[in-house]
Amino acid sequence: MDRKHYADEHRAFADAFRAFADKVVAPHYLDWERNGLTPREVFLEAGKGGFLGMAVPEQYGGGGVDDFRFNQALNEQIAFAGITGAGLGLSLHNDICLPYFLAYTTDEQKQRWLPGIASGELITAIAMTEPGAGSDLNGIRTSAALDGGDYVVNGAKTFITNGVNADLVIVAVKTSSDPADRRRGTTLLVLERGMPGFERGRNLDKLGLHSQDTAELYFSDVRVPVENRLGEEGEGFRYLTEKLPQERTSIAISALAEAAAALQETLRYVQERKAFGTSIGSFQNTKFVLAEIATEVDVAQAFIDHCVDRLSAGELTAADASKAKLHCTELQGRVVDRCLQLHGGYGYMTEYPISRRYADARITRIYGGTSEIMKSVISKSLGL
Ligand SMILES: Cc1cc2nc3c(=O)[nH]c(=O)nc-3n(C[C@H](O)[C@H](O)[C@H](O)COP(=O)(O)OP(=O)(O)OC[C@H]3O[C@@H](n4cnc5c(N)ncnc54)[C@H](O)[C@@H]3O)c2cc1C
Repeated sequence: MDRKHYADEHRAFADAFRAFADKVVAPHYLDWERNGLTPREVFLEAGKGGFLGMAVPEQYGGGGVDDFRFNQALNEQIAFAGITGAGLGLSLHNDICLPYFLAYTTDEQKQRWLPGIASGELITAIAMTEPGAGSDLNGIRTSAALDGGDYVVNGAKTFITNGVNADLVIVAVKTSSDPADRRRGTTLLVLERGMPGFERGRNLDKLGLHSQDTAELYFSDVRVPVENRLGEEGEGFRYLTEKLPQERTSIAISALAEAAAALQETLRYVQERKAFGTSIGSFQNTKFVLAEIATEVDVAQAFIDHCVDRLSAGELTAADASKAKLHCTELQGRVVDRCLQLHGGYGYMTEYPISRRYADARITRIYGGTSEIMKSVISKSLGL
């Protein structure tokens, strides 16, 4: 498809990131997949290359450009470079955590945190999910009680991306347990590495995304200064609602790029692989499957590019972001399954990228809000 979406500077940024991914990440990627962790140094290197904090104002060491097409270009190259597990931490840092640090911080907090976020010295994470509450964000139980100038935090979080590497974790806590006002009881606090009582649990063993650290976090009487609160007390649920559309758009971009990358790889494979004296690609079934995938990917791309434009303009609705996530992640699941089928038995071997794409894909229909929750958001916009 002839995409007019990017200007020269976005394409140059994408090329520069791809060169970084090929040089700094790809040669070590399979080792990191085996070890279950992407080294922290990758963030420092990404920071030096200008691939972190593109939206951070220049006075704090960032790129000073509030244009989500740069984030989109970066996420697409993560997929095409085949470094999905390592890249997810960078996307989470740039696309999902940074918006909270830009929107809800005081000048003093900006001075304290933004330079390190842009340089990669401070790695970020966001902790909403708990062992007993995921889709139902209002059901969280981690509590924060004000005591003098500190909140005293107790509770646990699980499935936290960048959970091992993170230096700053945005933690959703309950500051009020009034059952009549469940939403107003949520507050966002920034917990910092090394605070007494803040412990990491297991780095969880997963189906895919092995090089991505996904961890448990425990809080036992952690004293968090009031100066580490994001925005106002009791407004956390509103802040999450405001920023979840960007998170969902980011996941949708990556999901669609994974589908496009799987298509590219499979096109190459079916032209090389022979059966019955001819290439697999010459069978009508192969042609039709790949023609359907190419069509679905291009149609979805047009909607994603529209959503990214609306997001950069501050006009993306929660329902449209949910449609993007629902559609692109479900599409990704179908595409990687069909592409793996065209690889035959080799597609099941981990040395073939399609097998990793297949395993990595399964989570995108779950995290950032499940497909079922996306349908709930969309149906509300229909007045149901
Ligand atoms: C690899 C990975 C990384 C993650 N990273 C993060 C992170 O960085 N930060 C973070 O906070 N969380 C993170 N998560 C958590 C993720 O967002 C949750 O797993 C997800 O929101 C679903 O919550 P749950 O697992 O509690 O499932 P549940 O809420 O228990 O849902 C179970 C099933 O019930 C369905 N369901 C629930 N409610 C409804 C409803 N109202 N209507 C219809 N169906 C419903 C769901 O769709 C799902 O199919 C991550 C998870 C994984 C696996």
